[in-house]
Parts: sequence; structure tokens; C-alpha cells
Amino acid sequence: MLAALLEKPAPVEERPLKLADVPEPEPGPGEVLLEVRACGVCRTDLHIVEGELPPAKLPVIPGHQVVGVVREVGGGVEGVARGERVGVPWLYWSCGACRFCRRGLENLCERALFTGYSVDGGYAELMVAKAGFVHPIPPSFSDFEAAPLLCGGAIGYRALRLTGLLESGGRLGLFGFGSSAHMVLPVAVRRGLEVYVFTESESKVELAKAMGAAWAGPTRAAPPAKLDAAIVFAPAGWVAVEALRKLERGGRLVLAGIYMTPIERLEYELLWHEREVKSVANVTRRDVREFLEEAARAGVKPSVKVYKLEDANEALLELKHRPPAGSIVLAPR
Ligand SMILES: [Zn+2]
Ligand SMILES: [Zn+2]
Repeated sequence: MLAALLEKPAPVEERPLKLADVPEPEPGPGEVLLEVRACGVCRTDLHIVEGELPPAKLPVIPGHQVVGVVREVGGGVEGVARGERVGVPWLYWSCGACRFCRRGLENLCERALFTGYSVDGGYAELMVAKAGFVHPIPPSFSDFEAAPLLCGGAIGYRALRLTGLLESGGRLGLFGFGSSAHMVLPVAVRRGLEVYVFTESESKVELAKAMGAAWAGPTRAAPPAKLDAAIVFAPAGWVAVEALRKLERGGRLVLAGIYMTPIERLEYELLWHEREVKSVANVTRRDVREFLEEAARAGVKPSVKVYKLEDANEALLELKHRPPAGSIVLAPR
């Protein structure tokens, strides 16, 4: 089968992914073999390919937003059938036994395996996945639309869950309005939250209002009311401080990025009155499954730009230098 293989991390300008004909993987017990239909291209892939996030194995096939159709099932597999369309996210496997897994925090499992990082991912025609860690894709999404839901969307949804507002309702701030926030906004609006969007881009201000935001404006602007919770998508420490300034007493700030510039001056006054700050790491199966269902109900429609598998390096170059408004997806055939 054809795969975009990473043998040695290097700047993406050197086109480190090599299109290779590699042996077809075989599903073991508890595993399924997928025919890959689409694989999203994520900023984390860029960090893996360039070596900022050194891959746990080499060579490795990147890609962790995989939509595929089950071609074969291994021994002992229940609940997943041949011909079913499923998604594989960043969480490839968790141990189920450690203190984190037992508390429902498999995203923090110290033995977890990650797709396209510790094991081969979806920049390929075929891929093996753990049957217990694939997720049914609602029929309303095309293969290409479903791919970005599996990472940016699912992480955004985990951040939304961690705000606590899905239980209590209230005013939610979204700081940064890229693809992840685009996927979360309709879900939050459908759940009855009042959403305030902070972005420096005037066109995004208009888009956010058209998508149902109660208010949208620049990051340093004062919103008409204090926020009960906020999610920061922008990887900039100063934005986190701005978000804290707008939080109501007892409010919670959730940082959704895996990377952020230092938070330089954090005055204690900004945390006073029981304000909290929390980061988001990885996703659980529950996050992915709930988000896929919520996104279908809320009519989330990710906009995607499709590249062929053989152009994976070009796709990463575009993400690095001229990121498009929506998400980038690879099509293996
Ligand atoms: Zn990702
Ligand atoms: Zn574990």
C-alpha cells in the first residue's frame, strides 16, 4: 500500500515525508483494518514531522484524524463490523487500568498510545486501529467533513465540557476563532450558551455573529457582560491574561492549546474571587463520541481543502506558511 512515511524529522521545506510502497498492515486480535477515506492534517503533525515533538517510533506514518471503512476485523472483535465507517482520533489506545484511566481520565494515561506518533496513522491507504477506540461517524458528514471533527473539534469540545457550562449554562468566551472554535460555537449555541467571540479579524467578527455569537469583537475590547467561562484557542499567553480580565467571580478559564507563549505577568487579582485556570491535554473516547453526535445535531459543517496523499508535504507547507480558514484533509485515492 502507499503511505507517506517519515524516516527522519526535518523542516517541512525539505519535504521529509516520502511516498513509499509499504507492506499492508494486518489486524491482530481486538483490531480492525481500515481503508482510509480521509485523514486530516493537524498542526501537531507538523510538529512531529519537523521533530519539535520527536516521534515515539521511526519510521512512522503520521495522521491522527482518520476516517475509514472497516475492511477486516481481527479475532475477538465485537461491536465493529466490516463495511462500517469509523473515525480514529489522537488517542489510539489507553491502558484502562492505571489511576487516571480508572478515574475517567484516559487522556492522561501514562501508557497511552497516540495515532500517527507512537503507532502508524492515516497518511496511508490502509491503517490498523484498536476496535475499542474507533468511533462511528454520523451519516450527515462526508468523509472529508468528518476528519477535522476528530481532533480540533474533539479537543474544542473537551475544553467546552471542562468549562462546566454544559451543566450550568451561562456566558462563554471564545478567544481565537480558527477551525476548532468554528466547530465548537454551533454546539455551544445549540446548548443555550451565550457566546462571546474575541478575534482580531474583522471578517471573523462578522462570521461569528452570523453563526450565532451574542457578541464578537477584538481581544482587548470589553464585552457587554462578564464571562462565566472562557476557552483560549490562541497560542498566546497575553490572550490568556486578557481572558482572565473578563471573567466573572468564580469563572473558569480553559486553555485549549498544546502550546502557548509564556504568561508573563499574572496579577493575583485576576485569580482572586475563586477564578480558575485549567489546561486541556488530549481527548478521551467520551469526548470524541459525544462531540460527533453533538456536531451532527448542531449542523457543524467544517470547511475543508483536500490534498492528495502524495502531496502531504505540500499540505504541511500550506499549514505552516499560509494556513487556510478551514481545515486541510488528505485523500489517499
Ligand atoms: Zn491534531
Ligand atoms: Zn491508563
